[in-house]
Amino acid sequence: MTIFDTLESDVKGYCRDYPVIFSQAKGSEIITEDKTRYIDFLAGAGTLNYGHNHPLLKQAVIEHLQQDYILHGLDMHTKTKEQFLTTFNERILKPRKMNYKVQFPGPTGTNAVEAAMKLARKITGRENIVSFTNGFHGMSLGSLAATGNSHHRGGAGTSLNGTTFMPYDEYYGKQINTADQIRQLLEDPSSGLDMPAAMILETVQGEGGVNVASKEWLQDIQKICRDFDILLIIDDIQVGCGRTGTFFSFENMGISPDIITLSKSLGGIGLPMALVLMKPDLDQWAPGEHNGTFRGNNLAFTAAEAAIENFWCDETFSKDIEHKSALLRQHFQWIKSDNPDFVSAVRGRGMIYALEFKDPEIANLVVAESFKRRLLIENCGPTGNVIKFLGPLTTPAKQLEEGLKRLSEAVSEVCTSVAAELVMAK
Ligand code: PLP
Repeated sequence: MTIFDTLESDVKGYCRDYPVIFSQAKGSEIITEDKTRYIDFLAGAGTLNYGHNHPLLKQAVIEHLQQDYILHGLDMHTKTKEQFLTTFNERILKPRKMNYKVQFPGPTGTNAVEAAMKLARKITGRENIVSFTNGFHGMSLGSLAATGNSHHRGGAGTSLNGTTFMPYDEYYGKQINTADQIRQLLEDPSSGLDMPAAMILETVQGEGGVNVASKEWLQDIQKICRDFDILLIIDDIQVGCGRTGTFFSFENMGISPDIITLSKSLGGIGLPMALVLMKPDLDQWAPGEHNGTFRGNNLAFTAAEAAIENFWCDETFSKDIEHKSALLRQHFQWIKSDNPDFVSAVRGRGMIYALEFKDPEIANLVVAESFKRRLLIENCGPTGNVIKFLGPLTTPAKQLEEGLKRLSEAVSEVCTSVAAELVMAK
């Protein structure tokens, strides 16, 4: 029995899929205490878009500590926060012609979602928030109410109120535009749908199975929001910070969200940090109204600023992601065509890609078999039937191919042995 078995709560999750003790990490590799090296296609569930311990970001953090710069400053003005805000404004917001105010909620994704939902309710005076099938927004009660997954919802221990679920893009297949259905429900005074304060959605649903919303659908949803005076919240916590190839996932979608949530890779090197961006007229908070102790992690500001300076000053990073996206798509398509009886779909955008399996048990076996081959990858989706690539965006092409080779071998191994068992059973 280890200290993890005896002392750490049973709530722990990821360590069950990867039952070793990790001690170091660099780039796209994570290393155990006995020096076994794994390629990391999980990347802290999308927190390490720039890889583990990126040298430039690490240097900035070391410098911060060496200079005794502020580590904790409540929400007081600090030099570090001033520099982060200036860089974020100059390098991210202004070049994209985005006029937003920045709120620092607590440091995790769910903190940002809670703040966004609370603000939308305060502004509109309405309680209901529309969220979407297979959406994932966090584990605290407000964000959990907007999260579809029944396993997670079941842990709430109380009723989850104030949200209504609507079908995401292609929930009923390609033929049905679910935005039309939503519009019809809103137009019908007797539909039973309370007029929402906001709609909250991911442009690519990360935990929900890598469901990619089309540009047309996103525009339809925005149009509905505008027509009915509903706020549009884009939760870019998992697929922002470059995951889809641009800093924000909606940049080429022709939409302009009212409120945006960001976290995960924002802190650059894995440090907790979150933001809520709101159009200036929506900044209707009273001073201190949404307060708290950890409202701006100064060490994360330093890493975040270094990440923006290093990756987001020109098009180089985005172009590289585009190139690797094509490589990912090609390999995933090969895996699908090699295993047609088992793999039902390939989906993705930028560097979030999914292999959907017909049987969730196969996806579980693929995670375990990949781990045996020194590859960390996770499954997601409504029944855990989807294998999701979420490796660092900085993974060199050669290492990416090596990881994909291991994944491909793992899938073949699992599918071949399951097929053999099926023949035996006949
Ligand atoms: N929103 C999205 C889209 C997420 O993917 C997640 C986490 O995976 C969250 C919110 C919640 O973030 P956190 O786990 O940091 O609370």
